[in-house]
Amino acid sequence: NNSIIRVPEPVNEPQFDYAVNSAARSQLKRALSELAAKTIEIPLIIGGREVNTGNRGQVVMPHQHAHKLADYHQAGEEEARMAIQAAMDAKTGWQRLRWEERAAIFLKAAELISGKYRFQINAASMLSTSKNAFQAEIDAACELIDFLRFNVYFAQTIYAEQPLRSSKGTWNYTQYRPLEGFVLAVTPFNFTAIAGNLAAAPAIMGNTVILKPASSSVYTPWLLMQIFKEAGLPDGVINFLPGPGSVVGDVCLASPHLGGVHFTGSTAVFQHIWKTIGKNITSYRAYPRIVGETGGKDFIFAHASADVDSLATACVRGAFEFQGQKCSAASRAYIPESLWPRVRGILETEVGRIKMGPVTDFRNFVNAVIDKGAFDTIRSAIEYAKTAEEAKIVTGGGCDDSQGYFIEPTIILTTNPKFKTMQEEIFGPVLTVYVYPDEDYPETLKTCDETSVYGLTGAIFANDRQAISQAMAALENAAGNFYINDKPTGAVVGQQPFGGARASGTNDKAGAASNLMRWVSPRTIKESF
Ligand code: GLU
Repeated sequence: NNSIIRVPEPVNEPQFDYAVNSAARSQLKRALSELAAKTIEIPLIIGGREVNTGNRGQVVMPHQHAHKLADYHQAGEEEARMAIQAAMDAKTGWQRLRWEERAAIFLKAAELISGKYRFQINAASMLSTSKNAFQAEIDAACELIDFLRFNVYFAQTIYAEQPLRSSKGTWNYTQYRPLEGFVLAVTPFNFTAIAGNLAAAPAIMGNTVILKPASSSVYTPWLLMQIFKEAGLPDGVINFLPGPGSVVGDVCLASPHLGGVHFTGSTAVFQHIWKTIGKNITSYRAYPRIVGETGGKDFIFAHASADVDSLATACVRGAFEFQGQKCSAASRAYIPESLWPRVRGILETEVGRIKMGPVTDFRNFVNAVIDKGAFDTIRSAIEYAKTAEEAKIVTGGGCDDSQGYFIEPTIILTTNPKFKTMQEEIFGPVLTVYVYPDEDYPETLKTCDETSVYGLTGAIFANDRQAISQAMAALENAAGNFYINDKPTGAVVGQQPFGGARASGTNDKAGAASNLMRWVSPRTIKESF
C-alpha cells in the first residue's frame, strides 16, 4: 500500500470569469435554465444502491422559495444502520487497493468537475444555495477541484514519510492504514467544496464514509455523488445519507464501528457530537477521531496607519460576500476614531451600490440567505440592534422574505465593544463596528482577544510594522487564519490551510497534509533478520 509514484505538485484551478457575452456565461445560463425547469427526486445512496424512503424533504431556491428544485428522501434509523453496514462491507476492498488507484479516482473526479460538470455543479450551487456565479465558481468548481488534487498530493507525502534509520540486522517501516471503522462526514450548507472534502479526505486515505449533508443543502452533494461514481468510486465507499441529524447522526455515533467524524457546521451540533462520543466512549473498538470546524466571530482590526481604501473594501467583501454565510466572514470591525469618518463614507457609498436579488441576474452581488431559520435569526439580531441604546444602524437593516430570504447588507455601529452583535455569531450579512480612540490601540486589541470566544479568522490593517507585531502577539490565539492587510475570508487550498481553535473547532487545517494524517492509524513495523 505504500508504493510511491510521483504526483506533480498541483496548481490551483484557474477561475472562469463569466464575462458578459463569453461562451462560459451562456453555458452557465443554459445549465441554470435546465436545472430550474425540472424538479428532481434525490434518493439515498447506500452501498451504491439508490434507496427511497418516502419520507421527503424539499430543496427550494432560497431567492424564490416557492420554486422547488427537488424532493429528497430522508433516512431513518434503519437506513442509517444499512449505511453503516455498507461502509463496513466496502472497507476491506477499498483499503486494499493501492493508494495510487484510490487517488486516480479522485483525480478523475477533479477532471470531471473541471470540464464536463463545471456548469451544472455551479448552477446547482447557485440555485439551491443562492450563491452568485462568481462565488459558486470559486467554491463548487475551483476549491472543490483543488481539495481533490491537493489531497492526492498530500497523501503522497504522508505515504512517503518513513523512519529514518534501521539498526544492523533489522529494518523499520510505517504503514499508513485507514482508521478502524467508518468515518461520518457531516457537511455544511455553505460550501460544496467543504462537503466534498469532508467525505473525500478520509476516503483518499482508505476509509469508507457516510456523508450526511446539511438538510438545507442536499442538491450539490447529490450531484457530487454522481460524479464520484462516474469517476469509478466503488459502491459503499461513500454512502449518501440525508436525514435529520438527531436520527441519522445519533445512530452513527452510537455504532461501535465509528472510526471518526469529519464535521463542518454549528458549534452546538459539534458539541453535541463530542458529548455523545464521550458518553459512548467505552463502546467503541477504537477512539473515534474528531475533526471539526464550526463557527467564527471573525474580526477586522484597523490601526490608525491603515490604508483606508483597502480596509473598506475588506469590510464590504469580507462581511457581505455570500451574504456573510461563511465561518470566516468578517462580522466585527475595530476602527480608530481618526479613520472612521473616511471609512464610513466609503462604506456608505459602496454598500449603497450593492445590488441584491436572484442569482440568475449576474449583476446581483448579494443574494438570499439559505432558509427561513437563518432569515429569522439574522433579522432578530438586526432588530435587537435597532432598539438597543448602545447601537445604531449605519446602512441596511431591511429584511424581506416575501419571495426569497433577502436581508440587506447591514452595518451596525456600537459604542460597546462587548455589544451582543460584537460577540455572537450571526452567520448573515451583518457587520458590527466599534470605533475606538486611537491611543487605546493596545487595550482594544486586548478586548478583542478577550471577547474572542471563537478563534477562526481575523485581519489586521496597518502600515506600521510595530502595530502589526503588536496585533499578532495580542491576538495569537484569536484566529487560526490571520490576515495582514487583507480580508479574513477566501482561504485557498494549498496556499492558506484553513481552520481555527477555541470554539471554532479542532484546527485540523483543511487543505493540508495534517488533516489527512487524522484519517490514518499508522502501524510501525520492525523486523529483525
Ligand atoms: N474556507 C472559507 C474561507 O476561507 C470559509 C469556510 C467556511 O465558511 O467554513 O472563506
